[in-house]
Amino acid sequence: MSRIGFIGLGIMGTPMAGHLVAAGHDVTGFDLNPDALAKLTAAGGTAAADVTAAARGADVVITMLPNHPQVEDVVLGTVLDVVAEGTLLIDMSTIRPETSLAVAEAAAKKGVRVLDAPVSGGETGAKQATLSIMVGGDEADFAAARPIFEVLGKTVVHVGPHGAGQVVKAANQLMVGGIYALVAEAIVLLEASGVDAKAGLDVLAGGLAANRVLDLKRESMVAREFQPGFRIDLHHKDMGIALAAARQVDVALPVTGLIAQLIASARARGYGSLDHSALLKVIENFAGR
Ligand code: NAD
Repeated sequence: MSRIGFIGLGIMGTPMAGHLVAAGHDVTGFDLNPDALAKLTAAGGTAAADVTAAARGADVVITMLPNHPQVEDVVLGTVLDVVAEGTLLIDMSTIRPETSLAVAEAAAKKGVRVLDAPVSGGETGAKQATLSIMVGGDEADFAAARPIFEVLGKTVVHVGPHGAGQVVKAANQLMVGGIYALVAEAIVLLEASGVDAKAGLDVLAGGLAANRVLDLKRESMVAREFQPGFRIDLHHKDMGIALAAARQVDVALPVTGLIAQLIASARARGYGSLDHSALLKVIENFAGR
């Protein structure tokens, strides 16, 4: 059993922290939102008054925050100042790789061990503890963290040094964005042709076009239910990370550029807090529907 400080108890963090409590860990969490703290307490965890109280004395600190400014604020601004040498810090947020590298560098100066460990699998994966977890950092730290990852996910892979987890997550996000855009175009084509979209997608889900978006989201998309899930705002952030990572290594990703613009359009139309499946609304608009 470890004493775990868990910071960021949102759509993903709440079920993840709950699994860690259920696995027997002593979890003390913090979130700016009091409702999130109440959920942690109800699950058997302890609510902290602030980041310092969650992190101080922890063997492991996990962060699951929206973006790099929050990670910088929480980790560089507080956590590294209050944890003991040898503490393991696992950042599971999706952020730009260079921030993961900066965090690793600052942590090393204090003798704190760090992994970047972003996840894929969405809210369903977090609730069912079936996340894919892509981990960057030192092999020995990965080995130490593995029992925690196995509580949260099914596919856990050490993909390289610090920052590598975030690069793999960027690759994930550009693919997921593209899949949503094409599932949306399939729905538009089927409906405009007078074909039952649900029946059409049901059969496609058994063929070569099978994918997790079809499995998990085809019914809600056809029904135009766009409750998040994963917010357009966060996917917009991730497309920016993917394009910046591509620029960093001087490669052109033209399709990623297009998907980024479609998601930017969804945000500009005011859909930022809807689920990313609401990309369908942009695709429909383009199609003249
Ligand atoms: P969310 O907005 O639901 O949760 C983030 C939480 O962080 C919020 O509860 C917020 O109050 C809290 N927070 C923000 N700043 C804070 C601070 N300074 N101190 C303490 N708490 C703070 O977002 P989410 O959907 O849970 O996503 C979290 C991360 O996981 C993001 O980086 C996202 O890109 C990534 N992610 C999300 C999904 C998904 O399907 N939702 C899937 C994979 C990865």
